[in-house]
Amino acid sequence: MNLVPDYLFDSIYTIDIERLRARGVTLLLADLDNTLIPYSQKLPTDDIRAWRDRLKAAGITLFILSNSRKPGRAKRFAEALGVPYMGHAGKPKPGGFRRAMAQMERKPQETAIVGDQIFTDIWGGNNAGVLTLMVKPIEFGTLFRRARYGVETPFRTRAKEGGTL
Ligand SMILES: [Mg+2]
Repeated sequence: MNLVPDYLFDSIYTIDIERLRARGVTLLLADLDNTLIPYSQKLPTDDIRAWRDRLKAAGITLFILSNSRKPGRAKRFAEALGVPYMGHAGKPKPGGFRRAMAQMERKPQETAIVGDQIFTDIWGGNNAGVLTLMVKPIEFGTLFRRARYGVETPFRTRAKEGGTL
């Protein structure tokens, strides 16, 4: 059971895309809620569109891997962004990661996950054998989310800061 992310970033925008590609990563699985957009938002921003374009230009495919149970949420976002997706992904179980990699014909060593939660995104990514990149949640919102962030802190602090990716 490995709950420690490989690398820690302030946000998706501080991930060094060129270095990620240089490590052999060509598939980036991304959590949706509080990683790409806040829970209150539905559609990709211009910043996310530009980020997707930079990934694509570097040779990295973006894939939305979401646990959201809200009907259509991952679908609506991913279709607006023009990227493949999976809702109800069942993180931290490795099945969703494996199905996404099979669909995109990538191996674990060619794949990374970026997410804001230790117990779904990072644990799941470690279970599936992919590179795990943790970002800070976009917003806390509820007391529950703030408390969970506190519980996650010991694992977060053991990750490497992103500059060494
Ligand atoms: Mg999240």
